[in-house]
Amino acid sequence: MFSDGGDGTGGARVGVRIGDSVLDLARALGDEVFGEPSLNAFMAQGPARWAEVRARITDLLTAEQHRGPAAATLRPLSAVRLHLPFTAGDYVDFFGNEYHAANAGRIFRPGGEPLTPNWKHLPIGYHGRSGTIVPSGTPVTRPCGQRRGTGGPTFGPSRLLDFEAEVGFVVGVGSSGPVPVRDFAEHVFGVFLLNDWSSRDLQAWESQPLGPFLAKSFATSVSPWVVPLQALEPARVSPPPRDPEPLPYLADAGPWGLDLTLEVRLNGQLVARPPFAATYWTAAQMLAHMTVNGASTRTGDLFASGTVSGPERDQRGCLLELSWGGAEPLTLPDGSVRSFLEDGDEVTISATAPASDGTRIGFGEVTGQIRPAAHP
Ligand code: MN
Repeated sequence: MFSDGGDGTGGARVGVRIGDSVLDLARALGDEVFGEPSLNAFMAQGPARWAEVRARITDLLTAEQHRGPAAATLRPLSAVRLHLPFTAGDYVDFFGNEYHAANAGRIFRPGGEPLTPNWKHLPIGYHGRSGTIVPSGTPVTRPCGQRRGTGGPTFGPSRLLDFEAEVGFVVGVGSSGPVPVRDFAEHVFGVFLLNDWSSRDLQAWESQPLGPFLAKSFATSVSPWVVPLQALEPARVSPPPRDPEPLPYLADAGPWGLDLTLEVRLNGQLVARPPFAATYWTAAQMLAHMTVNGASTRTGDLFASGTVSGPERDQRGCLLELSWGGAEPLTLPDGSVRSFLEDGDEVTISATAPASDGTRIGFGEVTGQIRPAAHP
């Protein structure tokens, strides 16, 4: 979504990113649905319509007779303001990457089994807070809260603030009951980047026994661009081998791993290149699992992969893993050292995926800068 600048979301409408320009889709196609302030109305129209619009945009950009009129609706990216691409419904965050889950297990439960007994049988997730989903570029205020102390809990600004590099999926066509793995592409419209900001000290104290609460609900940043699933056919790969095979309702139906390469920058310096193809549970399995109990979904519901990590140290998608819980601080190229985020730090996550013509599809980026805590 983009608007002509200024404050607020007035005039926000659907744009397609073409290099360093934005194609004004409502004008280019003469279709009111793209003049809406979110993608929701279009996403609800379903996969046949998504495919038709994709074909029309391709035609617009390649056919000789259309290029001129299309060019007239292009706006330079530098001249527009970007917004949340969809009106967020319910939000679920998963924990579907084995490298991340095992590393977190080793850090939090040294000496124990890295993975919990359920981990390879179901994609573990929790319901996040959709009202605090913010677009890329929104500053993130360091959260305050309770953390463990030697003489009882203490209260104050989080000391162990982290990012989590994740891949998000948005539902276009809702569902009234279970969505089988094979029906994934009938419901999910597209893919985007997400930073699940996390306070490790708040999380460690509050998550006994329930999952993340205030440690993550203060802000979740998403990229302004959604890449349609239909554009990611060339990126589809088989997920890691299943060991053991999951229950039948979670059995793979086609290769729904996605060969996305993420890049995480801290203050402009590359700190990790997490490979999304290494993620154990696919988004199709995640959607099947989160609806198998009969829970319905709506247009705009989103779910995220969980932190994306790979087997190498420079493939880890959060500081918890990169600094091994603070035991092995990370030295950045400029010589600065980090175990967790400091005020003023800026985190930027970007990604690319293979395209059909041998080039790479860009996902744009999701970025956010840490502001000092607001003392209550
Ligand atoms: Mn997460």
